[in-house]
Amino acid sequence: VRGGYLNKLADLLYEHRDILASIESLDNGKAIQLARGDVDLVIRYIRSCAGWADKVTGSVVETGRDHFTYVRREPLGVCGQIIPWNFPLLMWSWKIGPALATGNTLVLKTAESTPLSALYASKLVKEAGFPAGVYNVVSGFGKITGEAIATHQKIKKVAFTGSTATGRHIMKAAAESNLKKVTLELGGKSPNIIFDDADVKKTVQNLVLGIFYNSGEVCCAGSRIYVQEGIYDEIIREFKAAAETLKVGNPFDEEVFQGAQTSQQQLDKILGYVDIGKKEGATLVTGGERLGETGYFVKPTIFADVKEDMRIVKEEIFGPVVTVSKFSTKEEAIKLANDSEYGLAAGIHTTNVNTAHDVAAQVRAGTVWVNTYNDFHPMVPFGGYGQSGIGREMGVEALENYTQYKAVRMGITI
Ligand code: NAP
Ligand code: MG
Repeated sequence: VRGGYLNKLADLLYEHRDILASIESLDNGKAIQLARGDVDLVIRYIRSCAGWADKVTGSVVETGRDHFTYVRREPLGVCGQIIPWNFPLLMWSWKIGPALATGNTLVLKTAESTPLSALYASKLVKEAGFPAGVYNVVSGFGKITGEAIATHQKIKKVAFTGSTATGRHIMKAAAESNLKKVTLELGGKSPNIIFDDADVKKTVQNLVLGIFYNSGEVCCAGSRIYVQEGIYDEIIREFKAAAETLKVGNPFDEEVFQGAQTSQQQLDKILGYVDIGKKEGATLVTGGERLGETGYFVKPTIFADVKEDMRIVKEEIFGPVVTVSKFSTKEEAIKLANDSEYGLAAGIHTTNVNTAHDVAAQVRAGTVWVNTYNDFHPMVPFGGYGQSGIGREMGVEALENYTQYKAVRMGITI
């Protein structure tokens, strides 16, 4: 039955995909072509969860003739879910899909600046026929509504996506209230590493996708680029050219790749970091300013000749601003990549399979993309090492966060 409801929901989301994409662009400022991509992944993910609904099985453990032992897999109960504004509908799907597939009920809080797509989709949840009370959505400020979820005595789990600072606060609130289970999907400062033998054209496309996709408002953005010395000048030249020809502007223009930043607050934060980068002495290769006088548009920005201790290299900017630096050996690249409190993702660009697998094994990140970037699939788990989070979303791993194991051991008289 649960699978049936989720499949019905996926059908309805598909029917309403155009309006959902338009709402997402309007509310968040992201380019319409990217909003359509989000909605496609939402539909695929909800369908994937529908498929899981009757495949979450327990097990029998063989413990001898005098016992019958089995392990049940049970839902947690009421799950609290708090989502951010950068991928409002996608984050909604990553939260509700596994919770509903595994038989939980939920209360989800939308981000105050972007509540519309999830509210529209909630209408579709109702239409899909889920029993009353299973799915609940609330809008409201984090400090009040989010706080109420994190501290609630009857909520058994809280799943959060957003900043590391708020994640830390939520974990504390969970600990101090009822020790509800916590999963966190937090920030990042992900390295994107390019070796001398990389395919330049393809790599530059992935660098663009890595940092300018969703206007840089991506937790796993490839925001620290490391280039091997033999290819450095060529990459800088080609990447600069790509950044300068990238179409930025009206999110509803079909040609636009980079839309608006989501709010004045984000715009100010990003431009603030550009100033910091200039003051720190980094070389501004391109961009570094607002585009136009109205709207929250930022020119795609590349800083080169950065030093590892600069704030623009250490801190999450959450905008279309990237740093580039040079390395000589593979060992040095790995060391630089891992020099971060975060560990959400990493990119590797090389045509050498040995380099690819060796570096993939050694970087500390929940996702490693080789010769691709920001590349998601419903069956591939996503989540962070270090201060990038706890737990995984998507894949079979997501179901772990929404079930608990009950061991039943029965004595048999023989
Ligand atoms: P945030 O504070 O982490 O907000 C994310 C969600 O948490 C929103 O729904 C927010 O509600 C809620 N929230 C805020 N304070 C809360 C609290 N005390 N208890 C429970 N829930 C709470 O993020 P932000 O302030 O919007 O953005 C700040 C920075 O975080 C960004 O510049 C960016 O660097 C980073 N960020 C990262 C991600 C990511 O995917 N990793 C996503 C968004 C932002 P409101 O709607 O009221 O804000
Ligand atoms: Mg906040």
